[in-house]
Amino acid sequence: MKALALHWKILLGIVVGILTGLLLPYFPGFSMGNLFSIPDGKTLVIDWIKPFGTIFINLLKLIAIPLIITSLITGVAALKDISKFSRIGIRTIGFYVFTTLAATSLGLFIVNLIKPSRSLSPATKDELMALYSTDASGKIEAAFETRDSGPLQPLVDIVPDNIFEALSQNGNMLQVIFFVIFLGIGLILIKEEDAKPVVSFFHSLNEVIMKLIDLIMLGAPYGVLALMATLVVESPSVELFMALIMYSITVILGLLILIFAFYPALVKIYTKRSYKSFFQGIAPAQLLAFSTSSSAATLPVTMERVQEHLGVDEEVASFVLPVGATVNMDGTSLYQAVAAVFIANTLGMELTLGQQITVILTATLASIGSAAVPGAGMVMLVIVLSAIGVPEAGLALIFAVDRPLDMIRTVANVTSDATIAMIVGKSLGMLHDPVEKKWDDNYPAQDK
Ligand code: ASP
Repeated sequence: MKALALHWKILLGIVVGILTGLLLPYFPGFSMGNLFSIPDGKTLVIDWIKPFGTIFINLLKLIAIPLIITSLITGVAALKDISKFSRIGIRTIGFYVFTTLAATSLGLFIVNLIKPSRSLSPATKDELMALYSTDASGKIEAAFETRDSGPLQPLVDIVPDNIFEALSQNGNMLQVIFFVIFLGIGLILIKEEDAKPVVSFFHSLNEVIMKLIDLIMLGAPYGVLALMATLVVESPSVELFMALIMYSITVILGLLILIFAFYPALVKIYTKRSYKSFFQGIAPAQLLAFSTSSSAATLPVTMERVQEHLGVDEEVASFVLPVGATVNMDGTSLYQAVAAVFIANTLGMELTLGQQITVILTATLASIGSAAVPGAGMVMLVIVLSAIGVPEAGLALIFAVDRPLDMIRTVANVTSDATIAMIVGKSLGMLHDPVEKKWDDNYPAQDK
């Protein structure tokens, strides 16, 4: 019997996880005096299921930095000349900016069309503000730390003064990328025979790491099950969710347009690849993005899928994807645009054209500055709000539904990275046909 393709297994994990999270809390627990007891269902999920989700995410994060280092060094060194590298770089950044601006504008268009703030009653508004004001102020403080530094601080932050310090924190991905590209450029510039030992060491390490990703992915359906069960058990009440339903629908509609229409259309136009083959290739990474809410944690799988199932050369994928995971967040920018207008309108403010343009620009920049971890987009939303003069405390209004929206915007972020990797690959003649090579859809990948 043909084994189930990975994306179906992960999907099954998501469904079983949600059902577990919904049903298990009804279990009341069981105790026989001091002799024997089983805790109630909610505690069971937190104590006995949640840790497996955490282990799964830790494994993915564990592999992310080593993967960036080995694949980027191998990738840049294989380009053999700097001009090729700069061609990839310029195209990548150009496409990233283009898709992010398009996503932000789409968000703005949809929110002005639907006007979700109309559906929120003043009573619910006050309830949300009261419930989430403390949570919101935590995020606001975090954002102000970023905002209060000088205009060139983001640039300064890219250059580490100590590579070991940068390597020791997953949040410093851009610093690591900077260092590794620098090292790769050095390798291109020295004699090939001198560079060879370093390049082949990293090449072989890269192969090992790709194999480790295959192994981690064997556990993906179970990891995802644990993550989803925990999420359902820990999520806020359904009533709050329903109060924000129009806002949620607006964000989700925009994200679905990006994921199912905009990106596949770009892929079709630029690479002639079919809708089906694109989704077959990228689906496991999308499902993982959905379950982890983190493009950084998903990165190892995105790289694996884009190279081995969508046919993008390692030289391109190893640059485009790590950079994309950290700076290219179309889903986040679309969400920030919708959320900013929703909060402004709910607080009784109508935005002028100038303010709307400011939203486009700041949401694009804020999404670039958002870290690739759960909830980061909401922290940076504070910057957008303060740029248009909307009280940041309004963040409390959208807190209750942020996590599910984060899951879907992370899918958009990852899909965008994969799309641009394919387009850049195609434009440089570095995209192959995975069908011809008979790549297998199941793990472990059998074609290496
Ligand atoms: N969770 C998103 C990501 O990792 C960032 C965000 O929008 O919060 O891509």
